[in-house]
Amino acid sequence: MKIHDISITISNDMVTWPGDPKVDIQLPIQIKKGDPCNVSRWQIGAHTGTHCDAPFHFLDDGKGIDEVSIDRFIGPCLVVEVDPKMNIEREDMEKINFKRHKRIIFKTRNSAHWKNNNMMFDENFVAVGVTGAEYLVEKGIELVGVDYLSVESYHAEFEHPVHKKLLRNNVVVLEGLNLYAIKPGEYELLCLPLKIKHGDGTPMRAALRELPKVKKKIKVKRSKQKKSKPAQLRKSKTKKK
Ligand SMILES: [Zn+2]
Repeated sequence: MKIHDISITISNDMVTWPGDPKVDIQLPIQIKKGDPCNVSRWQIGAHTGTHCDAPFHFLDDGKGIDEVSIDRFIGPCLVVEVDPKMNIEREDMEKINFKRHKRIIFKTRNSAHWKNNNMMFDENFVAVGVTGAEYLVEKGIELVGVDYLSVESYHAEFEHPVHKKLLRNNVVVLEGLNLYAIKPGEYELLCLPLKIKHGDGTPMRAALRELPKVKKKIKVKRSKQKKSKPAQLRKSKTKKK
C-alpha cells in the first residue's frame, strides 16, 4: 500500500515559530576537509517543522515525551478537510463523522504553504479553537494533527487554553504536517517521537499509509475445465523430457 510522507524538510531556511530557536545545521567534520566522515551538528528548537508536543510543553507537572506511550503514534487515523474562517470550532467538528477513530488529522488551507515552500510565518494560520479542543476531549480523541506549526492560534491568549485542554487530557498533539497531497479519508498513521528525557516535544518523521481496498469475493465456478487441468500439466511435463 502507498505510503505518503507528510513531513516538512528541516533546513536552515525553513519557517519557525517566532521567538523559537532558528534552525542552524552545520557540518563541522567533513570528508572534504580531510576528516574520515561527515558529521553534522544541529541547533534546532524542539518544535521545529513536523513535531509533537508533550504535556510538559505547557504543563510544568506534565509528562515528558519519553513518558508518552508510543502506541499513540501508530495506528488508524482519519484525515478530514475543513475550511473555517479562522479556528476549527465545535460547530465545524459536529458536522464530521469521526466514525470509530481516536486519531484525527485536520487538513486546511495551511497546507498550501508547504506546497508553495513559503518561508514567511503566517500569523493567521488555521488552528483549533477553544470550543473545538473541548469537543475533541469530549469525543475521547487521543491524537490530533494539524497542518501548521501550532494547534493553537498565534493570537491566542497567554494562558493557551487549547494546548492546556488537550495536553491535560493526554491528547497527543502533532503539528507541522504537510497534507497538501493527501485526500481526506482513513489511513494508518506512522510516526514516532525521539526519546528525549522529559522532552517538551520532538521533531519527527510522519507518514500516512493507505489502507488496503476491500476486495470483492470472487466466486469460483466448478466447471468441467477444472478436471482437465492435471491432464494439461502432465502434458507439459512430458514435453520437457
Ligand atoms: Zn509544538
